[in-house]
Amino acid sequence: MSSQPLSPSNFRDLFDSVEAFLFDCDGVIWKGDELIQGVPQTLQMLRSKGKKLIFVTNNSWKSRSQYAQKFQSLGISASQDEIFSSSFAAAMYLKANDFPSQNKVYVIGGDGILEELQLAGITAFGGPEDANKAIDLTQNCFVKHDKSVGAVVVGIDPNINYYKLQYGTLCIRENPGCLFIATNRDAVGHMTALQEWPGCMVAAICGSTQKEPVVVGKPSTFMMEFLLKKFNVSCSKMCMVGDRLDTDILFGQNAGCKTLLVLSGVTTQSALQDPSNNIQPDYYANTISDMVDLSKV
Ligand code: PLP
Ligand code: CA
Repeated sequence: MSSQPLSPSNFRDLFDSVEAFLFDCDGVIWKGDELIQGVPQTLQMLRSKGKKLIFVTNNSWKSRSQYAQKFQSLGISASQDEIFSSSFAAAMYLKANDFPSQNKVYVIGGDGILEELQLAGITAFGGPEDANKAIDLTQNCFVKHDKSVGAVVVGIDPNINYYKLQYGTLCIRENPGCLFIATNRDAVGHMTALQEWPGCMVAAICGSTQKEPVVVGKPSTFMMEFLLKKFNVSCSKMCMVGDRLDTDILFGQNAGCKTLLVLSGVTTQSALQDPSNNIQPDYYANTISDMVDLSKV
């Protein structure tokens, strides 16, 4: 069924049937470091009507506490308990799979992933500390890897280099039991507000290892299991609000939530309505602040 534009009557039905709104962040709440217009008022309106708010981002650059600071710096209140990032999902995935305490994790990503792994009691290295490890291929160099690495976690890494790719590849290729975890597989994201940037580095490691990763971010339902344990709400009483069809909307649909696409991010109305698109949200709107206007009707 094709999606409907949010209107006064369907908004009322949605609003009355939903207890929790799950918000994707980039393209919905902010673009890079810029707040999208009308967001504070919308979140305030929903909180004042007793709705639970949950924020789910695939951007692994920050930890939950770093995201809580970002919310605060943008003038929106969100507690760490309401935030689920793909960096946290990677740590929870390893915990849920009884990652052995003697093993280590190699990270191609930011310190948000390292922080979440550390909080989960998992030993991890890589990321920023390998940012300046230059490789001089003319010097017949050899990269030696730690054999106790039991998982490689790959997220966004603006300081990606050939050393990190070689290190991660060696861990996965030479230890058949080594897990290969991707925080997300978004094609692009707003690392800055002005431009879309490559959203992950995972394809490089897929190519060199000829392996596919376990993806813990949206659209995988892995994070949903944590949300559900924490917030006592059934999926049918949740609405996932996002700007990407293949991550956010699919994440909501995979779990049986209602779905609302906003056109303030990467998806245009023509892409939504293109006959080749087979992911149809229940509803679509220009921005989340359309909800404020509709709530007054
Ligand atoms: N990954 C990266 C590197 C990004 O920059 C972004 C958006 O900025 C995303 C993923 C997607 O994040 P979200 O799930 O909040 O849209
Ligand atoms: Ca998004």
